[in-house]
Amino acid sequence: MKRLLGAAALLVAAGCASEPQAPPYDAARQTAPRGTEADAIRAEWSVGLFGSWDDVELRILRRALSVYPGKDLSGIGFYRLPRMEERGARYDDGKIGVYEVTEDALVHEIAHATHARAPGFGQLKEELQRALDFGAYHRTSFWSDGTYAPRAGFVTPYASMNVEECVAESITAIKLWAFRGRGPLGEVNWSDPKFDRVYQILDAHSLLGEKDREALANLRKRR
Ligand SMILES: [Zn+2]
Repeated sequence: MKRLLGAAALLVAAGCASEPQAPPYDAARQTAPRGTEADAIRAEWSVGLFGSWDDVELRILRRALSVYPGKDLSGIGFYRLPRMEERGARYDDGKIGVYEVTEDALVHEIAHATHARAPGFGQLKEELQRALDFGAYHRTSFWSDGTYAPRAGFVTPYASMNVEECVAESITAIKLWAFRGRGPLGEVNWSDPKFDRVYQILDAHSLLGEKDREALANLRKRR
């Protein structure tokens, strides 16, 4: 199971970032941010902070963490990495490597971390594979017709890449909608039962919170 998870994390890493090779996590471990913002994050979430985060970036991280109220994120390491040619962020087996600090990227990578710890990890994968037609697409930013609105149970084209990205994108979408009032869920056609099914599966594996469920109930009334 451990090795399987490692393989899954590699796939995810390749999906989240352009370079699949391991980033300089060990080098980032040599430094740790100090100050009240860093202390507050460590105290509230019991996560590891490594690398050169500034206070503005730490506030963005704290904001991203805040859409996971009550979730046990302890032990996850957040590594601020040098920009180089990579962009965005990535998830590698309990480590979140951050090249560019944005709330959306952080919410997405934290979603990967919660997925990796979800009860019934293998069963969740089978259920999503049964519910959605992953083979039909394989897109990154746009569907083949140049649009990017949610379709066929996928909240974004990127979500159709594989189960890992589908989970991360679907969690990110409901968090952004429930806590920030924005994102792709406003464009979902809720008469398509596939979207309901995705969120039922995520909920059954403890990946949704109270506020996410409330927002979903309101969204479903739109059909
Ligand atoms: Zn991802």
